[in-house]
Amino acid sequence: MKKYDYLVVGAGLFGATFAYEAAKRGKHVKVIEKRPHIAGNIYTKEVDGIQVHQYGAHIFHTSNQKIWDYVNQFADFNRYTNSPVANYKGEMYNLPFNMNTFNEMWGVRTPAEALAKIDEQRQEMAGKKPQNLEEQAISLIGRDIYEKLIKGYTEKQWGQKATELPAFIIRRLPVRLTYDNNYFNDSYQGIPMGGYTQIVERMLESDLIDVAVNTDFYDHRDDYLASADKVVFTGPIDQFFDYRLGELQYRSLRFETEEKPVGNYQGNAVINYTDAETPYTRVIEHKHFEFGKGDKGKTIVTREYPADWHRGDEPYYPVNNQENNQLYAKYQELAKEQPNVIFGGRLGQYRYYNMDQVIAAALKTVAKEFDE
Ligand code: FAD
Ligand code: UDP
Repeated sequence: MKKYDYLVVGAGLFGATFAYEAAKRGKHVKVIEKRPHIAGNIYTKEVDGIQVHQYGAHIFHTSNQKIWDYVNQFADFNRYTNSPVANYKGEMYNLPFNMNTFNEMWGVRTPAEALAKIDEQRQEMAGKKPQNLEEQAISLIGRDIYEKLIKGYTEKQWGQKATELPAFIIRRLPVRLTYDNNYFNDSYQGIPMGGYTQIVERMLESDLIDVAVNTDFYDHRDDYLASADKVVFTGPIDQFFDYRLGELQYRSLRFETEEKPVGNYQGNAVINYTDAETPYTRVIEHKHFEFGKGDKGKTIVTREYPADWHRGDEPYYPVNNQENNQLYAKYQELAKEQPNVIFGGRLGQYRYYNMDQVIAAALKTVAKEFDE
């Protein structure tokens, strides 16, 4: 087997960023990927002129100008602003929680009226420190919004009672007293025109990088470990150690994609179903990420069903509660005994990273590795 400087396991955003930077420094890199395509969960595929986000809606957003400039080397971004709408038993609410939502929920029209209503609703948590997601949500925004827009969605998404979930999950969502449906507070946001896959293609196009898809590290583990001076591993860290200390918890997903013979099916890229009974959490209509580009007579929609994770399933989300984080810390200790293996990305570092954070983490690894 050829000797490489680096073997990168996983052709997702972390692995590709590392490979790109290593090749820029003259290193020979082999990238192996078990799926039949590169790009990991940001993979998009063109169907009838529509970029289909195969693994769920991906919107790039960041406040880090360096990361924004970095990713713009590989694609031109459009001005898409994520503004999901919630459907609660047929009632439609704007997200994130803002003056439009408060008007739809309570009929209030001014920030003062909204604040008074929220304050009244928060009273049940007065003087108490939130101990879990339910308490955090009620103290942030009150019971009405919690019951209609948070509880059902969250319990479906995580397969656990909101009273058993960590509060931090909900702190991702902004609350605003302005009529502003932008889901993110970040300075920069958009969708790469022509899809995400091109970003990873460009990262991996160097002659110094060899890529093999349909290639699972565990099929020839020892040979792969011997094939390079160092390994960058972006799969689940507990699997690498054969679950020796126990399984970390993950959440999985099932995607159901369907073509519809209409030009515009739901009028928005993302609609969240926030009741407990509808089995899916979101329906995405891909063409709206690029303002309706593509076939005028048809559209492609994907329903996202949350699912329990068992070995062999795709681990889409780490479940970063205290217990799992403690177990991950023990795996990190084990990892120290393998100085030639670098663990990175959402699964290697067991962190609920967004894309910008994955790039930042990969660049940090690069800086450490190449002593900058
Ligand atoms: P991955 O993309 O998971 O890449 C790891 C790769 O390793 C995979 O391709 C996997 O097949 C491969 N691999 C694993 N084991 C092996 C093995 N044994 N052998 C070979 N290959 C292996 N982020 C945002 O910024 N904005 C969003 O809107 C957003 N939406 C999201 C929606 C969903 C439904 C999900 C699940 C995530 C979303 N994210 C979003 C997060 C984003 O997908 C991740 O931050 C990013 O893709 C992680 O990159 P990664 O390289 O760490 O992991
Ligand atoms: N959430 C919710 N209702 C919604 C959207 C989100 O309660 O309509 C909660 C839910 O707990 C979710 C978390 O907020 O897990 C973070 O949402 P985000 O949209 O950031 O999730 P992601 O895109 O990472 O799945």
